[in-house]
Amino acid sequence: MPELHADPSLILIVDDSVDTIRLLSGMLKDQCQILFATSGEKGIGLARLHQPALILLDVEMTGLNGYEVCAALKADPTTKDCAVIIVTAHTGMDSEIRALEAGAVDFITKPFNPPVVRARVQTHLRLQQHTAMMRQLANRDGLTGLYNRRCFDEALTQEFERHRRQSLPLALALIDIDHFKAYNDHYGHPQGDVCLQRVATAIETAARRPGELVARYGGEEFVTILPHCDAHDAKKFAERLCEVVRSLQLAHRTSETAELVTISVGVASLVPSVESTTLQLIALADQALYQAKAAGRNRATVSTRP
Ligand code: GH3
Ligand code: MG
Ligand code: MG
Ligand code: MG
Repeated sequence: MPELHADPSLILIVDDSVDTIRLLSGMLKDQCQILFATSGEKGIGLARLHQPALILLDVEMTGLNGYEVCAALKADPTTKDCAVIIVTAHTGMDSEIRALEAGAVDFITKPFNPPVVRARVQTHLRLQQHTAMMRQLANRDGLTGLYNRRCFDEALTQEFERHRRQSLPLALALIDIDHFKAYNDHYGHPQGDVCLQRVATAIETAARRPGELVARYGGEEFVTILPHCDAHDAKKFAERLCEVVRSLQLAHRTSETAELVTISVGVASLVPSVESTTLQLIALADQALYQAKAAGRNRATVSTRP
């Protein structure tokens, strides 16, 4: 799924002792921004809301204890990437093992040794920044900045399952630039790259609803996942995409379709059943795209098959 945009210098301290929070904040305030919560339940809420890079989590708290909070954070897709350091007065192998088993990355013992606390926090903030960068590289297409094919495949599988559970329609729009080989041949590959970037940005800007995801599907093809969208609405969306790309007014002198860069879009929508698969949805959108091309390009076509 798309990466979350955690603030790389935000940490959350969860501790039921205000004195401990004050002590830790005093040690760390120069190296990061700090949020705090005085219970595990409040901590989970803040973590969901802000996705801090790092969470310092007390073990002994009334209500949920630190191990339980840590396990809950790791089980939630919105917070699973926040690094957790368990903070406890218990020393010994058992507590450390429990912390690591709950998904924590490190362990700090009370009473605090300030240089050790600062060094550990610094190390994990740096690691989190590297991880975020790697995630960005792994999920994004280098040329357009859109999500890449790998990320699309993962998101589609998740959305397909979710729509199956909810018995709701899920739509795909498969987008292909018209006569792009001729564009490259005439204007050159670097200008072709610029054209791809412009079209990508236009599509991304048009897909603004929550949950809509735009990815580069390959070459000069893009794809949009449209959650909770039936065929009628998906067609309207796709027609708007065609219009948005035309209105970029990118000259294409060698296109057989228009004097501008245009796109063809194939859309398909289905309510996933027990038997249906993501491959079927993609195949339907692909057939619709083929029909759009055959019917003269520069248009959106809906798959007529269920
Ligand atoms: P159609 O209207 O039928 O889609 O014709 P088309 O020429 O767009 O389709 P075709 O599949 O023949 O050509 C796609 C072209 O896209 C060929 C390829 O060189 C170009 N292309 C793919 N990826 C890139 C890229 O990253 N940069 C550039 N500049 N061109 C690319
Ligand atoms: Mg406590
Ligand atoms: Mg193509
Ligand atoms: Mg093409």
